[in-house]
This record gives sequence, structure tokens and C-alpha cells, in this order.
Amino acid sequence: MKKQGLIAYFEGRQVPLEDAKVSVLTHAFLYGTAVFEGIRGYSSATGGDVLIFRLREHYQRLERSCRILDIRPTLDVDSLCRLTVDLVRANGFHEDIYIRPIAYKSAERIGVHLSDETEIVIVTVPFGKYLEDEKPISLGVSSWRRTEDNAIPGRAKVNGSYVNLALAASEARGSGFDEAILLNEDGHVSEAAGMNLFLVRDGRLITPGVSANLLEGVTRDSIRTLAVEELGIKVEERQVDRTELYVADEAFLVGTAAQVAPVGSIDRRILGDGKAGPITARLKDLYGRVVRGQVSKYASWITRVAG
Ligand code: PMP
Repeated sequence: MKKQGLIAYFEGRQVPLEDAKVSVLTHAFLYGTAVFEGIRGYSSATGGDVLIFRLREHYQRLERSCRILDIRPTLDVDSLCRLTVDLVRANGFHEDIYIRPIAYKSAERIGVHLSDETEIVIVTVPFGKYLEDEKPISLGVSSWRRTEDNAIPGRAKVNGSYVNLALAASEARGSGFDEAILLNEDGHVSEAAGMNLFLVRDGRLITPGVSANLLEGVTRDSIRTLAVEELGIKVEERQVDRTELYVADEAFLVGTAAQVAPVGSIDRRILGDGKAGPITARLKDLYGRVVRGQVSKYASWITRVAG
């Protein structure tokens, strides 16, 4: 990853990325007590501007994550959006980028209890594809269970909670799958490691409900809206059994990084003919055009940073 010449927002101002450093005694480093966002910016068709996708919604979620972790940020959503636009401009990006704001417990001390000292850092880097290639991915159901709301809540994007997903993702790769699907302690489907899941059955979309210990994804919401509004497809949000994964007509993962990733097999059961199904393909194409500002109806989802 190119790091040279990048500028970050750190301790209240823009600094060279190499100067954005925290002490090893920082509470967030010692205990994982931070919350973050992952936001994409897409280069415009003319290549001059960067189009940030659903910037406001990401910061609204950051605010909710902060509330759960009892982080009281000194900056509101509007200020964070403004700072981010300024930062993208200062970096002079013209390519696809990724934006990573982190609100963290910044006290330098041993002792696990949460305290009031908080900082916000925003890092932006050039960013291409997240998943290796375009072909449908293989999923394996993980032996690691998704953390429960009463343990480490998936609703908040807590840095430390990604241990749960890292264990599952590594296990999946070690077993020859591309990605993991995590079940809840009750055995129902939650989400993938950093992505939400949709199934297609009999022409309807099915996705686990918000009580399934998942992150309430911005892409999940976008896909839901596009499916209903543009394709006239019904979306069911409900509990999903493990075996529904095996009998689905189509499946795909969604997330800021992965965008729309068709699933070819789950636990080695091939879905359909193993290729992206028709509904998946239509949504993937539509999403790709929406994020690049090519569908005027969804222009309000985009914050344009002039190049
Ligand atoms: N679940 C988890 C655990 C994630 O980390 C992400 C990525 N932020 C998602 C789902 C997808 O969320 P979004 O569409 O907002 O990126």
C-alpha cells in the first residue's frame, strides 16, 4: 500500500501519515477500545473528482458505535463530513480510495475501565478491489460463532471485535474457502467476516434481521433500497437457518470494501450453476453505477470532492 506523501487527520489537524502515531500505552491499543468506519470514494468517470459514497450515513453509524462504547466525540456528523472532504482534497486523490475514521480511547494507562479521553483519527488511502477477482466466491460456515450483543455487540463497529471475524476468516482460508459465514450462538446465520449476506429464494431477497448480531451495513441498506425501488423485488429481513444457505437459488455478500460479491458455493454445495445468478448480477451492475454517480436518482448518496 502506498503510504508516502499521504496526509491524515490526527489530534485535531492534518499531518503527514507517518506522523500520525499513538503510544503503545494508548487504551485503544491495549484493549481494542475504539470504533471505526470504512468508507469508499470512487473516481468519477472523467477521473478528476472523487465521489464519496454515503459519507453521512457512515458517520451517523460511527456516532451510534461511539454511543455504545461510551465514547463522546467532540465533533458532530457535519464536522466529520467536512473534515473528511477537506482531507480527501488535501491528498489530491483522483483514484478510488478508502477512508478509515477511528474514534478511540486515547488515555495512556493500564486499567480496562472506559474513561473520557477520546481522539479521532482519519486515514485515507488509494484502494482498488477488496476481493481477489470477479469470479463467484466460496463460503464456509465457521466453527467460530459471532459475538453476542451482550458480549461484544456487532451493531457497533468496535476495533477489538474484529478478532472474532479474523479468526473466522483465517479458518475459512485455511480450509480452502474464500470467506467465512458466521452463525450466532443459537445456530442461525449472522454475517460474513466484514460483509452482510443476502440470499435469493423464489425471486425474493432474504437477509438476516438486525437482531442477528450483525453490523447494520450501509451497503445492506443500499442494496435493499435498490432491490425494492429499482427491481421491484421483495426483501425479507428475518432469521435465516444454516440449511437455507444450501438451498438458496443465489447468494451474495455486500459491504463497502467487497461491494457486491456473488457467492458460487457454501460448504461446497454449488448454488445454481455456480455463476452469479440473474438477480445478483443485476444488483451488482446497478450498485456499480450508483456508486459512480451514474444514476441521478441516487445523487444524494454521493459527496463529490472536486479534483
Ligand atoms: N459487517 C461487518 C462486521 C463489517 O465490518 C462490515 C464492513 N463495514 C459490514 C458488515 C458491511 O457494512 P458496510 O456495508 O456498511 O460497509
